[in-house]
Amino acid sequence: MSWKHALVTGGNSGIGRAIALAFANEGIDVTICGRREDKLAEVAAESDLIHALAADVTDETSVAALYEKAESARGPFDIVVANAGIASSAPAHRTSLEEWNRIISVNLTGAFLTVRPALKGMADRKAGRIIFIASVAGLRGSAYVAPYVASKHGVVGLTRALAAELLMTGVTVNAICPAYVETEMLEQSIQRVMEKTGRSEEEARQGFREINPNHRLIKPEEVAATASWLISDAAINVTGQPIAISGGS
Ligand code: NDP
Repeated sequence: MSWKHALVTGGNSGIGRAIALAFANEGIDVTICGRREDKLAEVAAESDLIHALAADVTDETSVAALYEKAESARGPFDIVVANAGIASSAPAHRTSLEEWNRIISVNLTGAFLTVRPALKGMADRKAGRIIFIASVAGLRGSAYVAPYVASKHGVVGLTRALAAELLMTGVTVNAICPAYVETEMLEQSIQRVMEKTGRSEEEARQGFREINPNHRLIKPEEVAATASWLISDAAINVTGQPIAISGGS
């Protein structure tokens, strides 16, 4: 299938940037969004096929404006990657409702709002690819990150629900579930551990490395390679799957 236009939310950083560059390398126009315009411009400057539009995935109106601008310029999205996400950590009993809602609204509601406008058009055209960037936190529990784990389990559920709904349309819906990846999100987690435990940066980084089953941090490009496979013709029969990129189980 020769795809023409992809949306990658959170394409101005980390995993989203790597996926945008991988798709652009295949000749696909990629619209990236995020809230920080300077970071959007930096990534757009890396390829003529990457186009930046600021948008907040938690805001329905902002997502609608993004679709309107991007699709009127470059045609309907053939591929949507709901990648934007945030994390924080605290024991569940000290997690405020405000913090719970903040994480759920970006990671789960934001993922739903990101893909919803594409569903009908993809189904009518009988072609499309939807990819959620979930996490191994969508597959198993983990201490001190209750809203994050709940949001990512929700994303895996959403993947399965949409895959079932779109089964006969030729549109596939999958979730990529990485363990710790070397991005800004991991750097922020390292900072939190340093602040809370007094560990050095390298000690904190080593702690995260050792949580990954093979004691190796994942590179964003390794996640992007799976996204590239999911949009290939070879993956037409793969749908409704959470795919772990985790160095073991
Ligand atoms: P980064 O912090 O590098 O990137 C997060 C991206 O999300 C940024 O581009 C950010 O842009 C965007 N974003 C956050 N909130 C919003 C919002 N409200 N609207 C639009 N964009 C938003 O982290 P990663 O690349 O690591 O994270 C990408 C995804 O991968 C996330 O869903 C994360 O949960 C998941 N993941 C990450 C892992 C890791 O270890 N790094 C492991 C497993 C999964 P801006 O701030 O400009 O809005």
